[in-house]
Amino acid sequence: MEDHERLRDLMVSTQLVPRGITNERVLQAMRKVPRHLFMPEHVRYSAYSDSAIEIGEGQTISQPYMVAIMTELLELTGTEKVLEIGTGSGYQAAVLAELSAEVYTVERIIALAERAKETLKGLGYKNIHIVTGDGTTGLEAIAPFDRIIITAAAPTVPPPLVGQLKEGGIIVAPVGERFSQRLLKGRKVRNHLEEEYSTPCAFVPLIGEYGWTG
Ligand code: SAM
Repeated sequence: MEDHERLRDLMVSTQLVPRGITNERVLQAMRKVPRHLFMPEHVRYSAYSDSAIEIGEGQTISQPYMVAIMTELLELTGTEKVLEIGTGSGYQAAVLAELSAEVYTVERIIALAERAKETLKGLGYKNIHIVTGDGTTGLEAIAPFDRIIITAAAPTVPPPLVGQLKEGGIIVAPVGERFSQRLLKGRKVRNHLEEEYSTPCAFVPLIGEYGWTG
């Protein structure tokens, strides 16, 4: 077994399972996706540590546990069309792509979107589509989506995203203040989000028309 595989197994058994991640498909995807390849070389030594890591442009790749819990909350079965807001390194998109049919992911910083494209192409992912722009307005042309995940801190759920979510669909997002949030899981029922808040978290801000200003 190569070293990185061993580190991923360890990440799953020491960071995810003890904190209550039980979905075996999610755990398997986290064991499979080579997280170290999504970050700049000089920080790869800490790729499997229990923390978020800087990826440049003032942005981060989320802590493995956050990726796992948000993915688990999405209840993916393999058939879904998923929208992610905040591509960053592309790592979360890869985990989603292991568990769903198609992933559309939007990033506002062009340099990050380009790097994520290269990484995902190198790994052979064909079901991930990266779009550059303000994800708070969603992707009207591709909607509706079965699932939506926002991986940056939102003051509230952007209304266009609720509009682009299918009836019965799930949206997961860190919602709250600029520097501290809770994970929101919302299910769209009769055109409305039924909301449940869980784990406290601290994401970088969602910046855009329906997010924070600059
Ligand atoms: N999912 C990423 C990963 O796996 O590496 C981590 C996302 S990082 C915590 C948040 C990302 O959201 C940053 O790359 C940031 O540039 C992006 N972002 C912030 N506001 C955005 C917006 N309105 N539209 C698209 N991306 C946005």
